[in-house]
Amino acid sequence: MQNYIGRFAPSPTGPLHFGSLLTAVASYLDAKHNSGTWLVRMDDLDPPREIPGAADSILSTLDAYGLHWDGKVVYQSQRHDLYEAAVHLLLTNKQAFYCTCSRKQLAEHAHQQGQQTPPTYPGTCREQHSPPNMPSSIRLAVEDAQHPIGINDQLQGRFCQNLITDVGDFIIKRKDLLYAYHLAAVIDDHWQKISHIVRGIDLLDSTPRQCYLQQLLGFKEPHYAHLPVVVNNQGQKLSKQTFAQAIETTQCSLVLWSAISTLGLKPPTSLQHEPPEAILKWGTLAWNPKALINVTRINATQLTIDV
Ligand SMILES: [Zn+2]
Repeated sequence: MQNYIGRFAPSPTGPLHFGSLLTAVASYLDAKHNSGTWLVRMDDLDPPREIPGAADSILSTLDAYGLHWDGKVVYQSQRHDLYEAAVHLLLTNKQAFYCTCSRKQLAEHAHQQGQQTPPTYPGTCREQHSPPNMPSSIRLAVEDAQHPIGINDQLQGRFCQNLITDVGDFIIKRKDLLYAYHLAAVIDDHWQKISHIVRGIDLLDSTPRQCYLQQLLGFKEPHYAHLPVVVNNQGQKLSKQTFAQAIETTQCSLVLWSAISTLGLKPPTSLQHEPPEAILKWGTLAWNPKALINVTRINATQLTIDV
């Protein structure tokens, strides 16, 4: 069987909250249940959105929860050379182009076409393969993408998109010179030999774009499992945007017990008083994500934790 290499790849835009812990735990258990390796990568691509100290806080929280990663943590902020090389290759192959359209021009075009925002890109600059004398973003041309392009998600089933009509030529390097998430994630997943990606359902929508990049760059497509969104009692998604509380490291065992219960496992209550490592060991043996299949929302198991 293929070696299983999984990963948890948080963005350091805030401390770990219950929703992101759930993703970490699910990817950890899936990797360990399959005798795999579990890596942690810091997706620190967007400095303006990052909070100083968040990366270290995430790592120390993972450690406190017994989520000990294999190998060294990889930081995307240190890997711009790799991303730049891929952008260069795609430009050379005329699969990407320089785009000088302003936000206003694109909005006007969308308005004329009666499109809702966000509009699909009209292809204006598609022939621009050498650098213009003004700031530009770099877009990937999708006109040759197979349609539809899809994945067989382990949890969400078949998911397809027509990149030409649903997405349009998308940005791989922004005007402010930041690399797009899709590009960096695909390159690092390949470079780290990631075989299985377990992550939140909010990224399902962008997966066909990543698959297209994998095809163009000659990378193997990993297996995907997109976890349901975790919601609180009021039905609100737990995210940094809704100000979900950072998880404490004073009651790791209780929080972890709740996390694996939320993921559909039935841990004995006696485990609530065991160290995190013992809970994860139990979870690794018991791991079976069948309760999450075709589920898009799950309620956080409430214990003493106020999420
Ligand atoms: Zn353009």
